[in-house]
Amino acid sequence: MYVVSINADKCEGCGDCIDACPAGILGMIDGKAQVTGAETDCMGCETCVVTCPNEACSLQEL
Ligand code: SF4
Ligand code: SF4
Repeated sequence: MYVVSINADKCEGCGDCIDACPAGILGMIDGKAQVTGAETDCMGCETCVVTCPNEACSLQEL
């Protein structure tokens, strides 16, 4: 499975990763993007990683 992490210190809350995630598992909490859906639905597409202008998203395969 894939685990996506969002560095809150780097996230500026633009929302681009939320709009881009095809699995719809990212959401905004207190101005920061977070995994708000089922983490197991992440398909490891790296769309959030390449979309983020601040390199806040990272992906790990377990
Ligand atoms: S890797 Fe793809 S499916 Fe997983 S959180 Fe990022 S955009 Fe969504
Ligand atoms: S694309 Fe990056 S800066 Fe924008 S909300 Fe997502 S993690 Fe935050």
